[in-house]
Amino acid sequence: MRDRIYLCLAHMSGKEQDFIKEAFDTNWVVPMGPNVNAFEKDLENFVNKRVEINPETGATVGEENPLDKKVVCLSAGTAAVHLALIACGVKAGDEVLVQSFTFCASSHPITYLGATPVFIDSERESWNMDPDLLEEAIKDRIEKTGKKPKAIIPVALYGMPYKIDRIMEIANRYDIPVIEDGAEGFGSMFNGQSLGTFGEYGVLSFNGNKMITTSGGGALICPDEEKAKEILWYATQARESYPYYQHESIGYNYRMSNICAGIGRGQMTVLDDHISHHKHVQELYCELLKDVEGITMHGNPAPEFDSNFWLCTATLDPSLKIKGQENAYKQVITGAVGGAAGVTHAATTSVTDCQPNDNVEALRMALDAANVEARPLWKPMHKQPVYRDAPAYLNGVSEDLFKVGICLPAGPYVKEEDVRYIVDIIKENIDTGK
Ligand SMILES: *Cc1c(COP(=O)(O)O)cnc(C)c1O
Repeated sequence: MRDRIYLCLAHMSGKEQDFIKEAFDTNWVVPMGPNVNAFEKDLENFVNKRVEINPETGATVGEENPLDKKVVCLSAGTAAVHLALIACGVKAGDEVLVQSFTFCASSHPITYLGATPVFIDSERESWNMDPDLLEEAIKDRIEKTGKKPKAIIPVALYGMPYKIDRIMEIANRYDIPVIEDGAEGFGSMFNGQSLGTFGEYGVLSFNGNKMITTSGGGALICPDEEKAKEILWYATQARESYPYYQHESIGYNYRMSNICAGIGRGQMTVLDDHISHHKHVQELYCELLKDVEGITMHGNPAPEFDSNFWLCTATLDPSLKIKGQENAYKQVITGAVGGAAGVTHAATTSVTDCQPNDNVEALRMALDAANVEARPLWKPMHKQPVYRDAPAYLNGVSEDLFKVGICLPAGPYVKEEDVRYIVDIIKENIDTGK
């Protein structure tokens, strides 16, 4: 049997161990130090550059470094969302507008603060926050609550940029800060500028399965030195400068360790390669699947969008028949799909009131049997039982996409031959009725 093909496996450059060894040799085995500082500089250099695009051809015509954002490294992307919300002044009883079609780490930190997430549905082009619904929600929340929402969180789902030009125009008009959740979109650009640098704050994640990894970790892109210092202060228990521990605010233990940052420095040397590889894999899927009726790859909707294609995603026409789909959802799942860590609650039912179509589940199972990890799209937060009481502004798009979509492997270990194998498995499992 061939080795299992995973969605996105961490891939080391080989330089990580040198930076870690240096940390041990100099006894910087703590949540700060030279690797953390150097990793932050590397990240700043990366996100502050702007790639000039020829508007007619979409070709790259030059690079410059016009931005001056500051980056603070943290223990997780989730911590970055949490601290960005605090820095935007979010408190108990406030509301925050957040994309519904996302991983829970975009919205859970809102609840940590006793605030309420207000979910915004997606538009069909990018699959991300619908600017029209965003504006409708702002107006309606002001009318219903008498208060403005405290922040807006668009999410680069699977790396795809959101319509940040329109989102920023609306946010600026209502004077509401934007926290870009670019956890899946590190290296993605809109009009030649890195995601995470348009809004007040930008969230990055270096979890084990993201574009680059520090084993676990994240960062917050901040507008300036002063805001970066405030985030750093919150991330290190909000200590006041006295010779003894003096606390006037509540802080958190969210700083990145110098060991993890060493991994990050090594990973920065392969980031560009990773991004090109993900884009190449996406192109190959598009090429090999272009004549397969009923399956559509999700690509950049317009020239200003430049996704890193962290995961490659496809949608299945509901009329497409997949072999064995009559057996989908017949069994209760007892472990985590794909072996995700920490799933200790067994499912109690084999179905829920909102789940991918039978053909999608049948294709996932067929790929799994062929030793390929595939996953449904993220289930929208407004359909999650834990958020049943949260306000939501909906157009049906994210729920529709969740029912027809599937994530396909895209990481550095996915070779051309693997993509061909995966596409062959997909084609073999289409039930043509013959
Ligand atoms: C992974 C992820 C995060 C959080 O990152 P962690 O580093 O895992 O805490 C936040 N938002 C989205 C959309 C993500 O996919």
